[in-house]
Parts: sequence; structure tokens; C-alpha cells
Amino acid sequence: MEHVETLVIGGGLAGAAVAAAAAAQGPLLVLEQGPQVAAEASAQNAGMVRLLVEDPVERRLALRSQDLLAELDERWEAPPSRVTGAVHGLVEDPSDLDEAVAALRAAGHTVAALDPEGPLPPAMAGARLRRAWSVPGARVADPHALVTGLLQDARARGATVRTGLRVQSLVIESGRIAGVQTEQGPLACDRLILAAGAWSGVLVAPVAAVLGLRRPLYPVRRSVLQTAAHPLSHPEHPWCWLEDLGLYVRPEGGGWLVSGCDERLDRPPPGPGSTGPVDPAWRELLSARLLDALPALADVGWAGGWTGLRTFAPDRRPILGPDPDIDGLHWAAGLGGFGVTTHLAVGEAVATWMRGGALPWLRQEDVSPSRSYPHRWVIRPLGTHRGGRLVAG
Ligand SMILES: Cc1cc2nc3c(=O)[nH]c(=O)nc-3n(C[C@H](O)[C@H](O)[C@H](O)COP(=O)(O)OP(=O)(O)OC[C@H]3O[C@@H](n4cnc5c(N)ncnc54)[C@H](O)[C@@H]3O)c2cc1C
Repeated sequence: MEHVETLVIGGGLAGAAVAAAAAAQGPLLVLEQGPQVAAEASAQNAGMVRLLVEDPVERRLALRSQDLLAELDERWEAPPSRVTGAVHGLVEDPSDLDEAVAALRAAGHTVAALDPEGPLPPAMAGARLRRAWSVPGARVADPHALVTGLLQDARARGATVRTGLRVQSLVIESGRIAGVQTEQGPLACDRLILAAGAWSGVLVAPVAAVLGLRRPLYPVRRSVLQTAAHPLSHPEHPWCWLEDLGLYVRPEGGGWLVSGCDERLDRPPPGPGSTGPVDPAWRELLSARLLDALPALADVGWAGGWTGLRTFAPDRRPILGPDPDIDGLHWAAGLGGFGVTTHLAVGEAVATWMRGGALPWLRQEDVSPSRSYPHRWVIRPLGTHRGGRLVAG
């Protein structure tokens, strides 16, 4: 039977980041079910690298990733990200971002308060804002370039990447990972890194059921729309997010990428291909929201769009590192809506803990697979903070 020391399931941002960070530790194989890497959530996102975040664990990952991303921008021939800045606005609850602003400032980043009546970026002109902040250091990243570049780095350190091969199940013997069953037969490994995005929960569920473990992960579908060319779009325009309303826009291809931050619990398909179409009724609702909240973009024409899966644990924190209940299993999953922002730090954390090291900036227990998860959590079907719905976790 084929044997590999370390097996990574998943050729998205998480799998690529862990592979690049862990390849030097010994032979490593990345398995991707699809014909190409970076084709699922890592291709469906809006590419925004977000520093102004409320959750302290997510923030630590975001800040560490930001440093690592800046290093890649220096080291790689084509920088995978660029600084555009971001503007975060509130239309209803003026206190919503106070803690996030204070924490980001305390971490040494510039967060400038903007006058809602004063000069704003062109896309926000005339917006009915109660408060707004500018984060000039925020970036936009190219996830495809990141995945392919990180896997190239991993290959240069001896790793192998195989596409078009699906893992069907995990094989556990005497409470530890022995390998996986693939479409082409069994594959033995000493360590398994679960970086399978929306499929991570499905892969682990049978094992968790047998061992009586709780490892909840929920794929949540979100829509992104692309507008036709628009005169206010410019590559250097900061991306703009009306947080409590649930609306963001970022310049792309001469027009805008727009999301109303919708959330719908869903399941991954049996194999690759999690991208879906946008519901026309949702597009209508989004047109009305733009007209109301960002009048400068009220005249956009829609040119396309898609939906994709963001996968969360019920506390909306990622699941990272060694599983205390299954020897040899390491997690890099639950990267929700922040995988572009945090994947480099995720890779560093998982690889560091795999070799028994410690990190000054993240505690294992905060992201441990065996932590206690809430049994109910909030999703926001319409993207608005006020319309949250409690669901079972
Ligand atoms: C609409 C949308 C907008 C987003 N916007 C942003 C944003 O602006 N900023 C941000 O930071 N984040 C954003 N995200 C989140 C970000 O895209 C994800 O967190 C990130 O891509 C997750 O990466 P991943 O590697 O965990 O998952 P994926 O990219 O899905 O990779 C997992 C891979 O594992 C493979 N796989 C699964 N099961 C198997 C199996 N059994 N055998 C072999 N291979 C398998 C899959 O085919 C897939 O390629 C957004 C996500 C969506 C959907």
C-alpha cells in the first residue's frame, strides 16, 4: 500500500498554506479532489484582507497573516496582494465596531475616523452613514496566485500535489489516523491534515460518530455579484463595507464586486463543484439596497455573479491544530469568511503545532477541535445584523 508521512486533504488556501509551512518537516502529499487546485471557496471569495475584526482570535490570525503576506509581496516575483485601504461604515448601530477599532489601534494599525458628512471615497458619496472608519493598510489579495505560489513553494521543499483524486473516508485504527480510502484504493499516512473546506465536516462525521466526538462544521452559502463597467470603479479605490446593513463593494474588472452578505445553511455536493447561481430575487433585493445605502452606485448594471460556501464552526472560529481525541489528525478547517485574510497564519500555526512548537500569538485551546462549541448560533439570512436567526449547531 502506498504510504506517505504527511497527507493534506484539500488544495485550497488552507491546504496550500499548511503544505508550504510544513513541507520542510518531511515527505508531504496534497490531495485535491477537483481537476485543479483553488477552485472551490478559494475561488469564490471577494479577496478582501480584512484587519478590522471583532473576534480576538480571528484578529490575531489576521494580523499575523498580514505580516506574512507582506513578506510574500517582497519575496515573490509577482506580489499576491496589494494595499488599497478599506472603509467600514455603520448605518444603524454607531457603537458596533468600537471594540474592533480600539483593538486594531492597540495593535499599532492606523484606523482613522471619517466624518460621515465629509469627503468620502466616491462609491460612498451620499451614503447615509452614522459612523465610518478608514483602515489605510487593508489589502486585496489574489487567492489563485496565493494557492499556486504556496504549492510551488511546497514542491520546492519536496512536497507532491495530486489533483483529481477524492478521499472517500478516513481510516482510524486504535484511535489514531492510519490513512484514507481514496477512489483509487487505500493510502496510508502517519499524519493527516484536514483542509477540505466545506467537505471537512462530512469527512470527519463518521469517525466522530463512532468515537462520540462533537466536531460541528456548517457550510453557509453566500452570493457575490459582478457589475458591468462603472465610471467610479478604479483599482485603487478602497473596498467599502457597510457592516450592520450587510453590504460590501470592491472594485473589480472596471466594475464592482458586490455582496449583500446573505447566509443560507447548505451542504457541499458529493464531489467538487460547490459554486452556484445567484437567485434573481436576491439580485433585486440587492439593487434596492444599493439604491438606498450607496446612491453613487445605484445605476450599476449587473454582469454576472455566483454563490459559494463559507464553512463555520458554531462559534465562528476556525478549527486548527492537533485533535486531542484522534492521534495524527490535524485540522485546518472552518475558515468561514476569513480564509483569504488568515490562511498564511493558519498554515504557520498548524505546521508549528505539528512539530510540537508553540506560538507567541495564538493559544491552541482557542481553536482546538475538542473545544466546547455553542449548541445554537446566529446566521444572517439577509446579511443585516438586525435580521439574525438562531439555528441549531
Ligand atoms: C462568497 C465568498 C466570499 C468570501 N470573501 C472573502 C473575503 O473577502 N476575504 C476573506 O478573507 N475570505 C473570504 N471568503 C472565505 C474564503 O474564501 C475561505 O475561507 C477560504 O477559501 C477557505 O479555504 P479552504 O482551503 O479552507 O477551502 P476550499 O478553498 O474550499 O478548499 C478545500 C479543498 O479541499 C478539496 N476537497 C474537499 N474534500 C476533498 C476530498 N474528500 N478529497 C480531496 N479533496 C477534497 C476541495 O475540492 C477544495 O479544493 C469568502 C468565501 C466566499 C464563499
